[in-house]
Amino acid sequence: MNVENTKNLSNLLAVPQRIVLIPHRNPDGDAIGSCLGLSGYLKALGQEVQVLAPNDFPEFLKWMPDAENVVFYESNTRRGDELIQNATLIFTLDFNALNRAGIMEQQLAKATCPMVLIDHHPEPDNYAQISYSDTRASSTCELVYLTLAALDGLHLINPGIASCLYAGIMTDTGSFKYPSTSPNTLRVAANLMEKGADHSEIHTLVYDANSPQRLQLLGKALRNLHIHSALRTAYITLSQEDLDSCNFQKGDTEGFVNYGLSIKNIVFAVIFIEHRSEGIVKISLRSRGSFDVNSLARTHFEGGGHRNAAGGKSNASLEETVTRFTALLPSLKAELLNA
Ligand code: 5GP
Ligand code: MN
Repeated sequence: MNVENTKNLSNLLAVPQRIVLIPHRNPDGDAIGSCLGLSGYLKALGQEVQVLAPNDFPEFLKWMPDAENVVFYESNTRRGDELIQNATLIFTLDFNALNRAGIMEQQLAKATCPMVLIDHHPEPDNYAQISYSDTRASSTCELVYLTLAALDGLHLINPGIASCLYAGIMTDTGSFKYPSTSPNTLRVAANLMEKGADHSEIHTLVYDANSPQRLQLLGKALRNLHIHSALRTAYITLSQEDLDSCNFQKGDTEGFVNYGLSIKNIVFAVIFIEHRSEGIVKISLRSRGSFDVNSLARTHFEGGGHRNAAGGKSNASLEETVTRFTALLPSLKAELLNA
């Protein structure tokens, strides 16, 4: 965080505020970890703080301290509106455009108090008075740690805060294996371990929390894996029936898309998941090297993300969506072969 932002934020936090922290819709480990980690720090400063998420997040993140106190706008809209209207300071974490807050977008756009954006996605919108955006960072949690360092607040990091921030870094880096993991990421993770984050325990809580049905669903996903070797592409489809037959719970499909990328020479992996009640197909895209799924998701699937990890959706049927996708692939051939 630069000197000017640090000074402005420090001045804001020098007086009592009513602070609301907001992750993106369908919060992941980094979004919820950064909100709960930062909220722990702000509470240690004596501030009044509330995490307000657009909607619920997966069970495997619910062990985080204070997770039970997160308010969900989707199921508690009146309280959510009140919180935003009464806030004197709003942090938006792990997203770069207000529409990423889903159904909260309009209420947020009307908010009159100062906003602070902390995020690592490319091309952030210009809605915040204080904007700390760094696409080189592995995760928003890494940036929250650096924010606390800039504010001279590292001594306030307790084991709970450390665990939330560590978990966000771990999940966004694929347990420290993605290219986004830098020496600084590992230094921050090491410092968080020293502050009481138990890396082994956190890994178990997040990744060894499978239900038998989730593994059955993974089995279906792997059977539905289609490989286009000549275009270095693999994709998976999951229909509403597939989800229903395995008692789908939020978060169950997390990470499935990566199996496509684990195949030798595949540089582009996609999963299409039908959510019939919402009338959409949710799409997750992953790539290796120079192949840019962020721009692909922005152009074709009403989404976005990072160069190597992005998401989007389609309002067409699952079948139609996949047909459109496979029709698109030949035009990407040069980029796929040179990735
Ligand atoms: P996932 O595929 O795990 O849902 O998301 C991968 C990445 O893409 C994350 O960084 C996430 O924030 C971003 N992302 C996922 N869905 C969307 C979307 O609908 N719009 C935008 N702009 N980004 C998305
Ligand atoms: Mn993130």
